[in-house]
Amino acid sequence: MSETPGTTPANNSLPLGPTPRFLTRNFGVPGIDRIEVYRQHGGYESLAKALTQFEPDALVEEVKKSGLRGRGGAGFATGMKWGFLPKDNPKPRYLCVNADESEPGTFKDRVMIMEVCPHLLVEGTIISSFATKVHHAFIYVRGELPLAERQMARAVREAYDAGLLGKNILGSGFDLDITVHRGAGAYICGEESALLESLEGKRGYPRLKPPFPAVVGLYSSPTVINNVETIATVPAVVEHGADVYAAYGTEKSKGTRLYCLSGHVERPGNYELPLGVPLRTLIEDYGGGVRGGRQVKAVVPGGSSTPFLKPSQLDTPLDYESVAAAGSMLGSAGVIVLDDQTCIVGAVLRMTEFYRDESCGKCTPCREGTFWLVQLLERLEAGHGKESDIPLLADICDNIFGRSFCPLGDAATMSIVSSIKLFYNEYLHHVTAHGCLVGPRARGVAVGAGANV
Ligand code: SF4
Repeated sequence: MSETPGTTPANNSLPLGPTPRFLTRNFGVPGIDRIEVYRQHGGYESLAKALTQFEPDALVEEVKKSGLRGRGGAGFATGMKWGFLPKDNPKPRYLCVNADESEPGTFKDRVMIMEVCPHLLVEGTIISSFATKVHHAFIYVRGELPLAERQMARAVREAYDAGLLGKNILGSGFDLDITVHRGAGAYICGEESALLESLEGKRGYPRLKPPFPAVVGLYSSPTVINNVETIATVPAVVEHGADVYAAYGTEKSKGTRLYCLSGHVERPGNYELPLGVPLRTLIEDYGGGVRGGRQVKAVVPGGSSTPFLKPSQLDTPLDYESVAAAGSMLGSAGVIVLDDQTCIVGAVLRMTEFYRDESCGKCTPCREGTFWLVQLLERLEAGHGKESDIPLLADICDNIFGRSFCPLGDAATMSIVSSIKLFYNEYLHHVTAHGCLVGPRARGVAVGAGANV
C-alpha cells in the first residue's frame, strides 16, 4: 500500500488520526502471513477479546453499532444481515466468505488480505462465526487465485495447529471448522446464490430469490454470506470498539475502505482511506495524478459494473450515498481512471466482452443481449457502424436491465448506457469519420491486473 501522509486534512479529534489502518496495519511486515508473526503483531487478540468479553448477540449489536456495511458491492449493513438468520430454525447455520473477487478493476481482497495477511481473514471468520452461532464456515476463493487459495489453506491449517480452530477454541467452549474451497473460474459465482450452488457441487447458476440465503442457503440451511474485506474488518471493530470505527467515514458510510486505484494514474494500487474521501484526493494525492500529466476523461468508481463519472465530478466524496447521488455506485471501490487519450468505445467494448464471456447463459436477455452488444460495439469501434447502431445499443441495454435473472445482466449495461450519455459525440465520430477520435490507441485501458501496491 502506498501512503502519503498529510494529504487528508488532519483532524486531531479522530481517535486514530485522520487515516487509520484498520485493515492494513501490518501490511509490509515481513512474514505477516505466518501465524507466529501475525500473533507477535497483535493477531488473534481480537478473537480472545470477542470470546471472553462478548456474548454472540452482543457482538452482533457491536457490529451493527459500528455501521460496517458489506464491502462486496451492495453495501448492505453487516450486523443487520447477520440478524436476519432465523432464531428458531433447528438446522445448522453456515457462514460463507465470498472470496470470488472477479470484478474488473478490483484487486483488494486478493492482494491486501488473502495473499499477504490471510490470518486476518481467518480471525475475522472465527469472530463472525461466533457472533452468528455458526460452527462450519467456508471460504470460497476464486478459481484463478491459486496463491490466495494456498495462503488461506495454510493459514487455516496453522490456526488448527494453534488451537484456534476445531473444538473448544481458546477454552471458550466454541467449536468451529473452516473449509477453504477453490472455485472453478466463473465470475457468476461471486453472486451469492450461484456461489452456494457451486459450493454444493453444482453448476454455478443463480437461484431464484426469495427465499434468501439467510433462510434457505447452503444445503438448504440458514446461511450468511459476506465479502472478504467485510469479514476482515470485524477484528478491528472488536479491537477498537464500534464507536472508534464509526468515528470515521460519513454519517451513513462508516469506517474505511480499500480503494483499488487502476488505469491511467502514476501510482496505481490499493489505498485504505476513510469513506467519503474525495475522488480527486485519491487520484491526485495518493495516485500521483493522471499518467504523463494528461487529463482525466472518465472514471469508473466502483468496478466495471458501475456507470462512468465525468471530470467535473472529481470532487465527489467516495461514499455510498455521494457516489449514488452523482449517478453511479461505489460498488467494490475499484476506481478505474481513463485519460484523455482513451477511446471510450474501445474501453466499453473491452468491458462488454467480459460480461458476454461471463454470462452464465441461464436467461435470454443477458445471454443473447451481451452477445449482440459486443457485435455492435465491435462494428462501431472498427468504424463500420451506422448512426442507428447507437440507439440500438441503448435499446438492447433497456431490454437487459431489470429483465435479467441476476445482477450480471444489469451490470453489463452500465458502462454502455452511461458512456452514450456522456460521450455520444465520440460514438458518432466513429460512425461519421469511420475511426477513432483519439487515434490508433483504441482498446481503452487495462484495469486491475498488475497494479502496484
Ligand atoms: Fe446468467 Fe446473465 Fe441471466 Fe445472470 S443475468 S442468470 S449471468 S444469463
